[in-house]
Amino acid sequence: KGFIDYKLSAEIVRALDRLNYTEPTEVQNKVIPVALEKKDLVVKSQTGSGKTASFGIPLCEMVEWEENKPQALILTPTRELAAQVKEDITNIGRFKRIKAAAVYGKQPFDRQKIELKQKTHVVVGTPGRVLDHIEKGTLALEKLQYLIIDEADEMLNMGFIDQVEAIIDELPADRVTMLFSATLPKDVENLCHKYMKKPVEIEI
Ligand code: AMP
Repeated sequence: KGFIDYKLSAEIVRALDRLNYTEPTEVQNKVIPVALEKKDLVVKSQTGSGKTASFGIPLCEMVEWEENKPQALILTPTRELAAQVKEDITNIGRFKRIKAAAVYGKQPFDRQKIELKQKTHVVVGTPGRVLDHIEKGTLALEKLQYLIIDEADEMLNMGFIDQVEAIIDELPADRVTMLFSATLPKDVENLCHKYMKKPVEIEI
């Protein structure tokens, strides 16, 4: 299947064209149609497979530009990955004027706070700093509809389980959750059981 088969809006197709994404990768072909149906997803796949765009494309398609408060939250284990994912989302959402913000540690809290006060569709961040913003009331959650947990195995290996659970506990129950992981050890599976609704399982 090609990107054209997914009935994406013209703004997204134009952005993919500009990125020279001519054909969907395998993970994109499997994830995009399911994500567009707003189903929970567990995806076992490696980095380098095009997994960022596999959730970035449907997210950019589904978020409503008119809404000012964040609609999607993407959790990543590292600052580098958060910055990379923000850039990818910005590129995919360029012609829809999607605003992504990255929040992670070792960066001034107040600057992130100001960024979060402006129109933001997608927030990408590491668990500690995201939780910090939630606790200080600087990250609005009432319009949050999509949660992406990226590199879940890495996140749990780094000891972020308590923060991840504390974040999820604050999110609206009526949301879509997608989890991406290179491996699916027991603790990752437990997370899926605890917080997802009959997730579709995809393995690449
Ligand atoms: P990721 O697995 O998300 O880290 O992506 C790996 C690399 O593949 C990144 O440099 C992306 O820009 C690139 N990429 C993702 N999707 C496509 C696609 N459909 N066609 C060509 N390159 C892609």
